[in-house]
Amino acid sequence: MSERPPAIFVGEHLALDFLNSIASPKDVPVEWLRDGRDLIDWLEQAKVIETVVAARFRASKNRRQLEDVAAKTRAFRDWLRGFVTRHMGKTITPAAAKALAPLNDLLAGDTSYPVVEAGDGDHALRLRRLRRWESPDELLHPVAEAAADLICNEDFRLIRACEGSPCTLLFLDRTKAHGRRWCSMAVCGNRAKVAAHRARKGGDGS
Ligand SMILES: [Zn+2]
Repeated sequence: MSERPPAIFVGEHLALDFLNSIASPKDVPVEWLRDGRDLIDWLEQAKVIETVVAARFRASKNRRQLEDVAAKTRAFRDWLRGFVTRHMGKTITPAAAKALAPLNDLLAGDTSYPVVEAGDGDHALRLRRLRRWESPDELLHPVAEAAADLICNEDFRLIRACEGSPCTLLFLDRTKAHGRRWCSMAVCGNRAKVAAHRARKGGDGS
């Protein structure tokens, strides 16, 4: 396989960046989670795991378990894509909870734990969740937690797919006017501008 472009982080939410870890930014589909090594790289780039944790998992002798987690992660991504594309652009309702068993099963295996530590600014102390990062299985947990956060705390009316074709990137429109149309102005926005300009010129008969 030829060299891949760097992974894309335009989703404005970890769960959407996760869905964008397979995409067609330039005509050809690109998979950024082909195997366990890819999963570690992507999580490090997404700032989900620190460099030392990534290095430890890369050096792990337990290849088989890591590949199993990568496969589970891709399967979860397929499920999440189905859920998100079914509900995006609309207000989510309590009835959507009926379909959440695959997510809740994953969350049930989460081994993170809370810790109280020194804070800053307004709070002298703060509560934070930590992970032990002992087993490759833990690599999927932050992504599942992000999916839960997206589903419970974000407005699904603002989740959109880039209007560029064949771009399939998803994002949460956090702009004030809620008028975001493109994954990025530099890629699809520009392409659309150029196409519109060309169409206008053609229309003039010039
Ligand atoms: Zn795009």
